[in-house]
Amino acid sequence: MQRFSCPSCRQEIFFRNTACLACGAQLRFDPDTGFADLQEGSGTPCANREVINCNWTAHEGVPLCLSCLHTTVVPDLSIHDNRERWERIETAKRPLILMLHRLHLPLFDGRGAAVPRFELKGDPLDGSAPRILTGHANGTITLNIAEADDAERERIRSEMNEPYRTLTGHLRHEVAHHYWDVLTEGRADRLGQLREVFGDERQDYAVALQTHYAEGPPPDWPDRFISAYATAHPWEDFAESWAHVFHLLDGIETAQAFGLLTSATLPQGLDALIEEPMSRLTGVWVELVIALNAVNQALGHETFYPFVLAPAVVRKQEAIRALIREAGRSGG
Ligand SMILES: [Zn+2]
Ligand SMILES: [Zn+2]
Ligand SMILES: [Zn+2]
Repeated sequence: MQRFSCPSCRQEIFFRNTACLACGAQLRFDPDTGFADLQEGSGTPCANREVINCNWTAHEGVPLCLSCLHTTVVPDLSIHDNRERWERIETAKRPLILMLHRLHLPLFDGRGAAVPRFELKGDPLDGSAPRILTGHANGTITLNIAEADDAERERIRSEMNEPYRTLTGHLRHEVAHHYWDVLTEGRADRLGQLREVFGDERQDYAVALQTHYAEGPPPDWPDRFISAYATAHPWEDFAESWAHVFHLLDGIETAQAFGLLTSATLPQGLDALIEEPMSRLTGVWVELVIALNAVNQALGHETFYPFVLAPAVVRKQEAIRALIREAGRSGG
């Protein structure tokens, strides 16, 4: 993420701020032009501003912003705490939509409809009814809003024996499934390149997942995969690897913006970073991670980035980076 300053007083503002904490100016963010004073310019605020503190500008011709447009189902607001859960999810989703936009990945389908669509749903109150499963199908990402509750997410993380579970990670993982479909559709060359590194995705998905949950990952998985879950099926490997490409790009850009990578020879900013081979990005990232892991440990926090980037994993990430770069240049 970049850093931003108040259009009125130039004090630093955070990406989620609706107002400047220094001068009180009301702010709105435009994905193309950045922050502006709410009163000035021609843009109108997103219709969700008062509801969930969305600080973005309404997209041209519609009441909602580019990010809120992609949410087609919102949770039942008559249920206590659901508004807050919705707000937390959207606060994590706006940076993702901005990153997809800045990478020039398509955010609308051929008919002009916003895709991927996010459906934010709570489990049914009837405990015997089926639970809402987070996942992707045909351009629709379903997210169980319980993931917005820190305690619940931590409970699942611990139960699933995962080193890391965040809303940001979920969102990055799920959009990967959508972009696999969109970016390979009718492109045998791209599909072939992905199959070469991730394996053949035509193997039965349901059976593969069942086998994964019954037998667990192969013991040598850290040599070849970013996570245990990535071993379940080539689509999951792709989604897990994609999420980590986004973690690295965003993490490196943010570190650059705060002057933490002054000795590194990488060019600055997302547009330039996506042009760099993954082997260079991971080299810089690993050095940063070693330092930040140590700083976290010094304060008794959990590890900052508890993952190993084996050479085979970096090759997968390079295939994803090349795919994103090529799709971004050609507009899909
Ligand atoms: Zn200000
Ligand atoms: Zn909005
Ligand atoms: Zn998945």
